[in-house]
Amino acid sequence: MNAQTKIDDAGFRPASRIASIGVSKILQIGARASAMKRDGLPVIILGAGEPDFDTPDNVKAAAKAAIDRGETKYTALDGTPELKKAIAEKFRRENGVDYALDEITVATGAKQILFNAFMASIDPGDEVIIPTPYWTSYSDIVEICGGTAVLVPCDAEAGFRLNAEQLEKAITPKTRWVLLNSPSNPSGAAYGEADYRPLLDVLMQHPHVWLMVDDMYEHIVYDGFKFVTPAALEPRLKPRTLTINGVSKAYAMTGWRIGYAGGPKALIKAMAVIQSQATSCPSSVSQAASVEALNGPQDFLVERQRSFKARRDLVVAALNAIDGIECRVPEGAFYTFAGCGGVIGKTTPKGKRLETDSDFTDYLLEDAHVAVVPGSAFGLSPFFRISYATSEAELKEALQRIATACQQLAG
Ligand code: PMP
Repeated sequence: MNAQTKIDDAGFRPASRIASIGVSKILQIGARASAMKRDGLPVIILGAGEPDFDTPDNVKAAAKAAIDRGETKYTALDGTPELKKAIAEKFRRENGVDYALDEITVATGAKQILFNAFMASIDPGDEVIIPTPYWTSYSDIVEICGGTAVLVPCDAEAGFRLNAEQLEKAITPKTRWVLLNSPSNPSGAAYGEADYRPLLDVLMQHPHVWLMVDDMYEHIVYDGFKFVTPAALEPRLKPRTLTINGVSKAYAMTGWRIGYAGGPKALIKAMAVIQSQATSCPSSVSQAASVEALNGPQDFLVERQRSFKARRDLVVAALNAIDGIECRVPEGAFYTFAGCGGVIGKTTPKGKRLETDSDFTDYLLEDAHVAVVPGSAFGLSPFFRISYATSEAELKEALQRIATACQQLAG
């Protein structure tokens, strides 16, 4: 879907399943910005999808202890009993959902959970409904697995959320899954109970459609937003719901590569078959660290939330003060997804007319030295995503540069 680069090397014939898939725009922008930085340009990168905090010390200590105990071998295929137990307790404690240990799976990041789930369940032609804007990997993974991503645009006026009517209309006999992500990367929009209810009612009428929810940003919510997950809200849907989560964002553990999910036993078992032939098991040391992340003290999460909220407020206010830019207040995650329709059609000081959000983000990178990602990378234009998981000083400087760059546009 987000194909930007054709894989095309002399003598190499890429498989048809990756023909339309390229290196993601996010990674391309990151690479270009880093190269500019190496060349000595003062580039500020607001593109990264990871917290700027460090992994908590108790988690690091648990990993070191696991190494010293010799836990450095293959583990049980889809997660150690200790980690599955910690995950079951987390689901019960924080989400009010009961999953038995054989209804839980652990993989090398939530990304591999998605991959295992689609590989295990999708046949050619099967459809997956994905509201846009969406995290770029969703549609690419669906397509690698031979499925068809059915993208449903959900604009800012709709709070970037899918509604019941849109869902009903998108469902066909070929629909296999609906994939919802709350809070969302890239929009930061989240589904509260009142937003979920009508969607779950629609799904109750379509027993062939399964629900996949990506709760990765559960712990990063603001203004008293009450996080809920569908398996808890509608127990009758639990037998066809896969609840995905992970330690990457909540515990600043992106490099440890541990994601997990709770779901019906038959699906979990099928996912383990895929995993057994892909990685054998997730990293033993990272699993031990994740047990401590889930069982250990959780109070630092509130402190981190407060820090993210201060940065969200700073970014949203600064964006809305710019002529031509409009930013809705996100409920969670660490992203803003601002509309840039007001600058489209204007001309840069170098005489280039901005036709698309991608032209705008290229202009910001080249002339203002700020790296952000265009909405087109997430399936909705004209918008751009800022990741505010960076210092307030850097954010202030970057927003000042964006404001100046917008002022310098003519027309
Ligand atoms: N879901 C969402 C919405 C994400 O933004 C990300 C990371 N960018 C992931 C899943 C994957 O996380 P990981 O593989 O690190 O667990």
